[in-house]
Amino acid sequence: MKSMSGTEETAHRLAAVPSLHVSTCVPLSRYTRFGIGGPADIFAETGDPEAFVAAMNIARGSGLNFVVIGGGTNLIVSDDGFRGVALRFVATRLMAAGNRVVADAGAVLQDLVDFTITRGLKGLETLAGIPGWVGAAVYGNAGAYGHAISERVRSVRFLDGSEVRVFDREECEFQYRESIFKRRKDWIIFSTELILDPSDPADLARIAGDILKVRNEKFPPTMKCAGSIFKNFLLAELPGDVASAVPAKVVREGKVAAAYFLEQVGAKGMSRGDIHVADYHANLIYNDGHGTARDLCELIAVLKGRVRDRFGIEVEEEVQYVGLD
Ligand SMILES: Cc1cc2nc3c(=O)[nH]c(=O)nc-3n(C[C@H](O)[C@H](O)[C@H](O)COP(=O)(O)OP(=O)(O)OC[C@H]3O[C@@H](n4cnc5c(N)ncnc54)[C@H](O)[C@@H]3O)c2cc1C
Repeated sequence: MKSMSGTEETAHRLAAVPSLHVSTCVPLSRYTRFGIGGPADIFAETGDPEAFVAAMNIARGSGLNFVVIGGGTNLIVSDDGFRGVALRFVATRLMAAGNRVVADAGAVLQDLVDFTITRGLKGLETLAGIPGWVGAAVYGNAGAYGHAISERVRSVRFLDGSEVRVFDREECEFQYRESIFKRRKDWIIFSTELILDPSDPADLARIAGDILKVRNEKFPPTMKCAGSIFKNFLLAELPGDVASAVPAKVVREGKVAAAYFLEQVGAKGMSRGDIHVADYHANLIYNDGHGTARDLCELIAVLKGRVRDRFGIEVEEEVQYVGLD
């Protein structure tokens, strides 16, 4: 009798976990906003923390690689896909008690924003229109218009590889688009508790509505992209000569847009195959049809090289790689 491969055996063991949905050879392009990515050998998802812990134990014990993804709006997945187990934690509960809100990691961030606005809770309205789920928003400290989710996080419940633990905000070590979770790939966020301020729902809805209007023009909802490819720079962290040459009008909340440097090296309108840099935004790359991760990565490398050569600084990806590390 033919013996099972490690992948088959792992898929078999995962399939026995109650409440875990398991499939094999799943094209990850279906799960990324770029619409790019080859198959994951195994794809498993659940909204049940216990089932997720069991799945993680099996995945880790199998010796196969594993990756946890959310809504796939900030991912570049290899054209060859992912050799191992791709997992999603898909619980979506949102709960409010007074000005305290608890959100599961699989809830859509916009649903959380709307939930708080409807209840007259201020603090997340400037995050309106940021795609993706709550877990990844905490992982990458998502933000916009001068605010980030970390300002409102009171605690985060997560799996540290073996145990479920709770960190308060300080322990999460949030910084601009950073948290401790970004450095510990085996720490998986289950939920977060947020503290908000009472406010007028109509005011909050107006702020969010205005932001959504601007965002929908910049990032049409059908655009296959990841938002900004590169992180912006903190002015204080730029080399002195580079910082002093930056015009004051491009500095916002202590940051210099990566687009400012990219624009000067001719990024706007560049392309490789079906992958294009927007002609109106040098830090926005999109897939115009059948783009590949290969073209995308090549274009990113060219842009990084040009900025390095001209300014002596490294633009750093905000986007996360799967199967390409
Ligand atoms: C049009 C557009 C506009 C955007 N604008 C903004 C913006 O203004 N500000 C901003 O901050 N971002 C922006 N983004 C980027 C993106 O929306 C955020 O990074 C978002 O938080 C990603 O969420 P996701 O669920 O899609 O995560 P994914 O893309 O699926 O994953 C991103 C990372 O999070 C990790 N991850 C996912 N879930 C978990 C979990 N439960 N526990 C631990 N790690 C996890 C993954 O391993 C991966 O490394 C934009 C993206 C798009 C497409």
